[in-house]
Amino acid sequence: MKTTNAKEQQRIAIVGAGPGGLTLARILQRHGIKAVVYEREPSRASRQQGGSLDIHHDTGQKALREAGLFEEFKALARYEGQDFRLLDKTGKIYLDEIAESNEGDRPEIDRGTLRELLLNSVDSDCIHWGHNLIQAIPLENGMHELRFENGHVDHVHLVIAADGAFSRIRPLLTDSVPEYTGLSMIEFYLDNAGIAHPEIAAFNRRGKLFALADHKGILGQLNGDGRICVYLAFQIERDWLDTCGIPFDQPEEVKRQLLQHFNDWDESLKNYIRAANGPMLPRRIYMLPVGLKWIHKPGVTLIGDAAHLMSPFAGEGVNLAMRDAMEQALSIVQHSDVNKAVEAYEEKMYAYSSKSAEESDANLKLIFSDDAAAKLMDLMNQYHDHP
Ligand SMILES: Cc1cc2nc3c(=O)[nH]c(=O)nc-3n(C[C@H](O)[C@H](O)[C@H](O)COP(=O)(O)OP(=O)(O)OC[C@H]3O[C@@H](n4cnc5c(N)ncnc54)[C@H](O)[C@@H]3O)c2cc1C
Repeated sequence: MKTTNAKEQQRIAIVGAGPGGLTLARILQRHGIKAVVYEREPSRASRQQGGSLDIHHDTGQKALREAGLFEEFKALARYEGQDFRLLDKTGKIYLDEIAESNEGDRPEIDRGTLRELLLNSVDSDCIHWGHNLIQAIPLENGMHELRFENGHVDHVHLVIAADGAFSRIRPLLTDSVPEYTGLSMIEFYLDNAGIAHPEIAAFNRRGKLFALADHKGILGQLNGDGRICVYLAFQIERDWLDTCGIPFDQPEEVKRQLLQHFNDWDESLKNYIRAANGPMLPRRIYMLPVGLKWIHKPGVTLIGDAAHLMSPFAGEGVNLAMRDAMEQALSIVQHSDVNKAVEAYEEKMYAYSSKSAEESDANLKLIFSDDAAAKLMDLMNQYHDHP
């Protein structure tokens, strides 16, 4: 695959080796365009990569096809992970969907497995681990100076921020900052669930289980490594995780106090809390303003969460990050001027990402409203009738 001489001389840096940054590096590489990827983590093995992600047909899967990785993805994906159960706090079942094997538009893959797939596909010498970007400074000639915590400095024609929710590059383009969505979560795992907790594993099935009531939720999801990842969700004021008095460094006491918060929930649901092992991690969920745009500036742009952080309730975050990567890469391939390529990507991205951000915001409000299980059932039935 060919590229122009002018483009070969352009130095492109991608900051962040998450799903967005890696997909971008991979697709550029397939078209003969080199980019350097800077990642703050010290090595590919340095962090647990978290839970399972559903990869959508028209976005994440499309990007994987463009990256030449779809067949490998298909072999790793868990189509049965599309099982979905919806309950209220009494244990009443509203939806009980069993997925067909190798069918469906949204198969699951563990975040760590997806990252390995992408990492193995890019030239290893293009990824610079242990490079924590501190600052990006616009220079008079339209280039940017990138400064890293370890003292490294680079000058690039284009810097693409794929550095996630709290991007260090975003302030060059907009004053908008992520705002608290009103939702706080506590994340924990049930290791080796099929063997250690067969009753919970059977109850949870092979995919996701949502139990919703009283502006709270117990959300369970089987991962490919046999763990069930659980989020306890609370629609609550921002400071609650600090003021609730739960000592998050003492897991047994955390369990005791959390069981009190769910004391009138069905035993089958409280069992998720009783069976937790390992750390119990508090986290707040943030979002950028829906429909965020900025005035185009030469030599810098954003993809993924850096551009349009949203709550996880449209299941779009990783899919949009990968679609952005695809659109940005193909635009660079198609335009001889990288700034024209960035502008074209940005205009396209604003249109599709704002729709997902609206959907995600509406879903979050619905999922934690009164009678949430019944309302979510109606919404999902409408979706099945008119996808
Ligand atoms: C609880 C929860 C559940 C979720 N569930 C889903 C789901 O089911 N489906 C879905 O689609 N999405 C889900 N998401 C969202 C999804 O995880 C993100 O949208 C997606 O990971 C965004 O990809 P990204 O590449 O833009 O950023 P990230 O995955 O955040 O990657 C950013 C990378 O940049 C690196 N980095 C950050 N700062 C710097 C710096 N200064 N210098 C160098 N490197 C840096 C980070 O170490 C990281 O590797 C969920 C999110 C949360 C919080």
